[in-house]
Amino acid sequence: MKGPHAICPSSGADLSEDRHPDDRGIPQREPQTPDHDVLSTGQTHSSRRALTAFFERTHGEYADDPERTQLPSATRYLRALKSETDARDEWVWYALAERLHRDGFNVGWMRMADVVLVCPHCGSWLKYRPAPKGELLPKCGVNCRDRDEFVFGDIRREIRETFTAAFDSSLDRGQLQITER
Ligand SMILES: [Zn+2]
Repeated sequence: MKGPHAICPSSGADLSEDRHPDDRGIPQREPQTPDHDVLSTGQTHSSRRALTAFFERTHGEYADDPERTQLPSATRYLRALKSETDARDEWVWYALAERLHRDGFNVGWMRMADVVLVCPHCGSWLKYRPAPKGELLPKCGVNCRDRDEFVFGDIRREIRETFTAAFDSSLDRGQLQITER
């Protein structure tokens, strides 16, 4: 995962606030673990191990689930998501939320857990603007397709496709049960 809450793509550890410019001037960050010294800025496609560790950490921080009942299912579903799809971390995260939600788990916390949605077309940051019905919906922060369009529907499609690829259960348009904000 990249962005403000970037994680080490291999271990899933948080990255340092300190930045160390490499020889191309890219500000690399250090994983906050004693034994992982590979600098990075995070990646869009983290390893299964990294996402599992990230889930465990944020679940401990945000979820009201002291028995940690969500962990075995999440571990299993992440294995399916990472072996059956090549989706970027944000879509994997929300497809996982959808799957756990369908098992009856409370996944509201997963919306707070430092996963920032991005433009499904270019990966840029999103800006939220009032839509015709007054709700705030996302547009690409750099207007990459030059259409000044809302991208909420496209985000939902990415999540639906990721879910369907991993769990072989087709989700028609509009059938996502979680909301992505
Ligand atoms: Zn874009």
